[in-house]
Amino acid sequence: MTNADLRSRFADVFMPNYGVPPVALVRGEGARVWDADGNEYLDLIGGIAVSSLGHGHPALAAAVAEQAAALAHTSNLFVNEPSVRLAERLVALAGGDARVFLANSGTEANEAALKIAVKYGKAHGRPYVVATENGFHGRTLGALSLTGKRSIRDPFGPFALDVRFVPYGDADALRAAVTDQCAAVFLEPTQGEAGVVPPPAGYFTAAREICDATGALLVADEIQSAIGRTGAWFAWQHENARPDLLTLAKGLGGGLPVGACLAFGAHATTFAKGDHGSTFGGNPVAAAAALAVLDTIERDGLLAHAAAVGDVLASGIAAVEHPLLAGVRGRGLWRALVLTGPSAPAVEAAARDAGFLVNAVQADAVRLAPPLILTDAQARSFTAALPAVLDAAQKAS
Ligand SMILES: *Cc1c(COP(=O)(O)O)cnc(C)c1O
Repeated sequence: MTNADLRSRFADVFMPNYGVPPVALVRGEGARVWDADGNEYLDLIGGIAVSSLGHGHPALAAAVAEQAAALAHTSNLFVNEPSVRLAERLVALAGGDARVFLANSGTEANEAALKIAVKYGKAHGRPYVVATENGFHGRTLGALSLTGKRSIRDPFGPFALDVRFVPYGDADALRAAVTDQCAAVFLEPTQGEAGVVPPPAGYFTAAREICDATGALLVADEIQSAIGRTGAWFAWQHENARPDLLTLAKGLGGGLPVGACLAFGAHATTFAKGDHGSTFGGNPVAAAAALAVLDTIERDGLLAHAAAVGDVLASGIAAVEHPLLAGVRGRGLWRALVLTGPSAPAVEAAARDAGFLVNAVQADAVRLAPPLILTDAQARSFTAALPAVLDAAQKAS
């Protein structure tokens, strides 16, 4: 099967919600992947910040194979040890005093957080929640009602929840919107889908203070930002502003579907028996994969590695002068090339032609979220190729 064959079959059988991707990937090794025509790429997007250990990592492959052979599924009718170990591990990494709900995706992790927020709000006369313009929290109707991007909200609204949107990064706007009637504030520590947009320094600390002063829950959506992406386990640790609820997914499973919602302190027991559930949540294969990811990050020092290689990547990009390129933003191995105009699709295509997979996350921003195992030399190979990639994009657009 070639790229062309698979693209045409894809186009015929799937709903048209994604558009037809440019190539089909068939295998990977470390940070490299190969398409159906045999072309090799350096994977600088990692399945949207998911493939934290890269591709074909022996620890992940062994953990999944062994658990699948031993017991692939139990449901929540029975205890399975990998899920217990994963939950204990997440609580310990987050500093203790928390409980966990395991889900299968980011959206579901946010649905759990939202239901906790709604239950808290009903108990305390807090009928609304606050979220941010251009924020992204997922695609189910609950998570979508928190998502601040009009083009993906409007076709499906109105929504059942009262969600008030504030401009991201503006602490005064947040202070004005959050009263003692507010149940929860949903925030990404850096907005991912908006184009890896960090807030001004101190924003997360300010949000913590605003929530403490009013009694609103601070919910950190760290689905994209956690598990080493910024050089820390969790991005909230950079400002030491621990949220009340924390949602995780993407990089946690290293490619296996797993999500988690952590609730701290008194909120850890807001859900009572019967309040929530998931047939697949806590699946032992997914939990074994996540444990392999966490063990490997710890054993191989990948937090410090992601911070260091991320700096190499960013300084290499910053050193490039080109009319299409305005700069670079983000932290660790989570960056965006900021463009001077709407050339991101052309840059993405030119990069692919040059052997690099990147993501045109916005018209004027190209996202990089490579595996945490990306080497220095691999980062430099991209920045060395970047001027020619931008030239090619300029010619094409
Ligand atoms: C990807 C993402 C989600 C949705 O996760 P899915 O696994 O696609 O459901 C939610 N919030 C943020 C911040 C994300 O980046």
